[in-house]
Amino acid sequence: MDRQALAQRYGQVKATIPEGVKLIAVSKLRTVEEIQALYDLGHRAFGENYPQELRDKQPLLPADIEWHFIGHLQGNKVKYIAPFVHLVHGVDRGSLLDDLNKRATTAGRTIGVLFQVHIAQEETKHGFAPDELRALFRQGDLNARWPALQFRGLMGMATNTEDMGQVSHEFDGLAALHRELRALHAVPSEAFSELSMGMSGDLRQALASGSTMVRIGTAIFGERP
Ligand SMILES: *Cc1c(COP(=O)(O)O)cnc(C)c1O
Repeated sequence: MDRQALAQRYGQVKATIPEGVKLIAVSKLRTVEEIQALYDLGHRAFGENYPQELRDKQPLLPADIEWHFIGHLQGNKVKYIAPFVHLVHGVDRGSLLDDLNKRATTAGRTIGVLFQVHIAQEETKHGFAPDELRALFRQGDLNARWPALQFRGLMGMATNTEDMGQVSHEFDGLAALHRELRALHAVPSEAFSELSMGMSGDLRQALASGSTMVRIGTAIFGERP
């Protein structure tokens, strides 16, 4: 591992991100040594996609790392991450809220969640349709139903395309939905303040559309193995 190159890429990414926007270093498929090296540069928020991989790495790394789960999560794998995960970005169906709430209760903790919204023109990306979320929010107080969860905002992935106008359009749509849902007051709106959007290839567009959390892997660690 080239620590100097890592420090340089990390510095460049950090310089692009305005104050108040959270940088999540996406460390899926990265070794414990690479994560530790970024930690040693002062970074604390990391994102992982695979529950077993996260379960196996977490005990080998410093306890004050803030772990974000950003992948697709199966209900039967929630138990691997519930004891320590900070924020689950990819909540893409109601049944996952039941599983997360149950495992958070068992672990005696509260877990933060973001609703993933399907904004891309691709069949392969997971997420709620905007109308499904509107219907859920119109049912009223979400914390009454899932008391061990903290509803923190929305997450979305734009279409993987060269057409950056389309990417911006999708991110703007997510930001508008976020404003609309906050106004329904089904969750405390101060807490429901996060908009997780932006990866290495669409970071600038996401920031311009009002992202509050960016999930960056390649631009920090280099190409994934
Ligand atoms: C892998 C991944 C990222 C990071 O992608 P890069 O292009 O490496 O920055 C961000 N978000 C999600 C959901 C991912 O799966």
